[in-house]
Amino acid sequence: DLLLATATADETENQEEGIRPHRLADYIGQKELKDVLEIAIAAAKARNEALDHLLLYGPPGLGKTTMSLILATEMGTNCKITAAPALERPRDIVGILVNLKPGDILFIDEIHRLTRMSEELLYPAMEDYRLDITIGKGQSARTRSIPLPQFTLVGATTRVGSLTSPLRDRFGLIQRLRFYEPEELSLIVQRTAQLLQTPMSEEGAIEIARRSRGTPRIANRLLRRVRDYAQVKKMGVINPDVAAEALEVFNVDPAGLDWTDRLVLSVMIEQFQGGPVGLEAVAAATGEDAQTIEEVYEPYLLQIGYLHRTPRGRVATDAARKHLGYWQE
Ligand code: ATP
Repeated sequence: DLLLATATADETENQEEGIRPHRLADYIGQKELKDVLEIAIAAAKARNEALDHLLLYGPPGLGKTTMSLILATEMGTNCKITAAPALERPRDIVGILVNLKPGDILFIDEIHRLTRMSEELLYPAMEDYRLDITIGKGQSARTRSIPLPQFTLVGATTRVGSLTSPLRDRFGLIQRLRFYEPEELSLIVQRTAQLLQTPMSEEGAIEIARRSRGTPRIANRLLRRVRDYAQVKKMGVINPDVAAEALEVFNVDPAGLDWTDRLVLSVMIEQFQGGPVGLEAVAAATGEDAQTIEEVYEPYLLQIGYLHRTPRGRVATDAARKHLGYWQE
């Protein structure tokens, strides 16, 4: 039994593959996004064209990669997955572009981090399915144009504001992913539990969903931890008590806050009188990276009203004080 609690990285990746939804109909939540894409897919198919370029933005773990893979399945094509840091040199992106097949989807994660040279190669590729490359240097330099197959660029980013406008303007569709509602997350947890053949009550799924910070990736991760715990402790069906007990062990509190969330808030309350305090000061006092706080931790704390952003800095709210036990009536 204990062996099951430790999985190798490979196994984790395989498990991930097994639980990803493959069709649009199996993708839970994000109704607005699905409505828009359903029409785009039907139209592109009817015209026998590639799907419009699509920019997906929002906090990590909300299913951008999953959606990109689904689009390829729905269009009957392949999806090539990469990320901006892997495309540092122009030849990295050239290599990928010339190997695309008609209709393929190219998913670029963290697209706001592309180098300028790589980005400029993308402009004619996106607009005219054409690659403009310069051969040689100085006086003898010549530009050659290589035709590319019709393809679809799916860009993903956590910071849409960091995209240059020429890049942003070349996406036909720009869609934001939202945090999931607890009911939606509960459906995702139940679906994954079924695929993992883990016995669980609906209430058990809701308990896990409530603690998942609105994020499917976290919901599935917490489900795995609860499943290990229930198995090793021979607790049988996962009900709310089992879920709560297991997640307590893993330091996930009833609002879904983890150790770092609580550290960020308590530092603000204890060292900065609850704010307003600048992001850099919070980062220094917690030892966390400012960008990580801003992109990974803050979005959910803002969403649930534990944090406010003001022109003078971040403020921890009364709800946060209450939750952490600082509240004096
Ligand atoms: P990011 O938005 O940072 O790219 P991600 O797209 O990498 O996050 P995924 O890896 O796609 O996040 O999603 C994490 C897991 O959550 C996936 O394995 C998938 O099983 C599940 N998942 C995500 N979104 C949904 C959804 N809408 N319905 C069902 N399962 C989902």
